[in-house]
Amino acid sequence: MSIIKLLSEKVANQIAAGEVVQRPSSVVKEILENSIDSGAQTIKLYIKDAGKTLIQVIDNGSGIDKDDLKLCCLRHATSKITNSEDLFKLKTMGFRGEALSSIASVSQITITSNCLEDSSLGNQIKIEGGKQTAFNEVVAIKGTSISVKNLFYNIPARRNFLKSDNVELKHIIDEFHRIALSNHKINFVFTNNDNELFNLNKSIFKERIIRVFGRSSEQKLIPVEENTEIAKIKGFVFKPEYSRKTRSSQFFFINGRFIKNNYLHHAIKTAYKGLILDDYHPSYFIKIDVPRETIDVNIHPNKTEIKFDNDQSIYAILISSVKHSLGQFNISPTIDFNSNVNLNTPYSFKDKSANVPKVEYDQAFNPFNNLKNPVDVKSKDFVFESYESNDKLNVVDEMNLGLSDSLPAFQLDSRYVITKNRAGLVIINQKRAQQRIMYEVFLKELSNKKNPSQTLLFPLKLEFDNSEIEYLKSIKSSLIHLGFKFNVFDNNLIEISAVHPFLDHNLINKLFQDFIEYGDISENKLSHTLNDLVAKVLSKHSSYNTNLNTNEKVIEMMINNLFACKDSRISPFGKLIHKSISLGEISIFFK
Ligand code: ADP
Ligand code: MG
Repeated sequence: MSIIKLLSEKVANQIAAGEVVQRPSSVVKEILENSIDSGAQTIKLYIKDAGKTLIQVIDNGSGIDKDDLKLCCLRHATSKITNSEDLFKLKTMGFRGEALSSIASVSQITITSNCLEDSSLGNQIKIEGGKQTAFNEVVAIKGTSISVKNLFYNIPARRNFLKSDNVELKHIIDEFHRIALSNHKINFVFTNNDNELFNLNKSIFKERIIRVFGRSSEQKLIPVEENTEIAKIKGFVFKPEYSRKTRSSQFFFINGRFIKNNYLHHAIKTAYKGLILDDYHPSYFIKIDVPRETIDVNIHPNKTEIKFDNDQSIYAILISSVKHSLGQFNISPTIDFNSNVNLNTPYSFKDKSANVPKVEYDQAFNPFNNLKNPVDVKSKDFVFESYESNDKLNVVDEMNLGLSDSLPAFQLDSRYVITKNRAGLVIINQKRAQQRIMYEVFLKELSNKKNPSQTLLFPLKLEFDNSEIEYLKSIKSSLIHLGFKFNVFDNNLIEISAVHPFLDHNLINKLFQDFIEYGDISENKLSHTLNDLVAKVLSKHSSYNTNLNTNEKVIEMMINNLFACKDSRISPFGKLIHKSISLGEISIFFK
């Protein structure tokens, strides 16, 4: 008996969908690209629940005629190529004729289209799970509207695999950034759950970058331009002082198409060598135009990777043009990497000569005494504002009590604390121990009703792009809960007026950078919940025990607090906190 079967069209489409449609953002990418291919001047994107409930794109492009509308959701239905030679002449984004059929097989899709300027009638097709359920003549203006509902409704395993709305929305915004930047001559509107995220008028490339990433990006941009036979390079890089630890805002557009390319990325990093720290990344927006026959875009199903014939030459041209631009704008490697002022100074202090307020924790301070007599703002760097319990201060309060039977302990190299237990010697990594203690304090505080807050002398302004702000919104309530106060939490700006008292003010900027870096919970696997992530990142930047080396009692309390933790062995970031050397091991040294 034969065991080989031909897959049904439905199954084949679902398999193809696995390749093309990984998550809502892939649908957004495909249908936006179709609208661009259709010659649309204005494209509107609406999504609900990060695209899980609805993704709709409305364009004023060429439209699809009645016969094509019936075909466009079939596999390999494309108007863009008819034979394989056409592949080499391709100017459009799509050509495989796979996107719509794939999307239609895993969602409920409605396409309404009119291809005639002078008619108010168009056609509408509805497809559910790959099966046509309706086809009607409807009133429609010229152009196409595609709505994709309930993605993966018929593949629960895939639907369950989708990440939180925040994570999925971030992917959509990333995709939108790429498309909006490479098609700056098209008007875009992007609305999520009735909240308009972008409204971009057609403009030149530079203006589009500024519109997408906020007005402050204007001062960061340096133009890059180079014309050779092999490649024409045009775009912008960020001044080195605006480089960041996260690899966001890095864009290559080859012949108008966003691509990822580590090799070219390396070229840009090389051009910045000596200007930024090794673990910082430059931001760039680079358009490279090359003769179409010298690239192969067909090596990746999502077409975000590309093969060049002349990649080595392009690499060299890119380094020299970026270096040239950095040089022209008088940016030479003069940053003192040891003091690192430019990179670490919080944004709003950049041009101020005022002393940055530093958290000096007053150990004799009893919050209850001060409730009625607020601390003098002039003499203190901060004010305590609200207490309901002093639970969270136990860690420090206990330090003042001291212990009656003292433990032999001393500090080594300001990094380690050496002590003993019954079995032998214990070496504690001080920083990790502090992180663990503070992590557990913060976690506990997140379940308290009210927590201490410390007003900053100067409110701190931090800038972000839209997708970063969207992500930060998801942790905003945890931060407020932990004593943060925000004057502004807007499209591109956060203004912070108060923070948790244990945070080192100098590190607040870095704290937020870390939130963004660790933010993608799904991909980072650092945390499974937002609260956990917030506690972890905060623990990294807390100023607990800054004066550890001056006080033996404090060392001792740190040891006690550490071993009172739920898990004293491993830091919140998974690193070993202490190691023992047993008497047995010690005796071996002296054999
Ligand atoms: P491809 O883009 O690779 O050709 P798709 O499955 O994405 O394949 O689309 C199939 C066809 O449907 C396209 O070739 C095009 O003819 C038509 N089409 C899809 N979306 C639009 C649109 N917004 N406007 C006009 N035509 C469209
Ligand atoms: Mg397409």
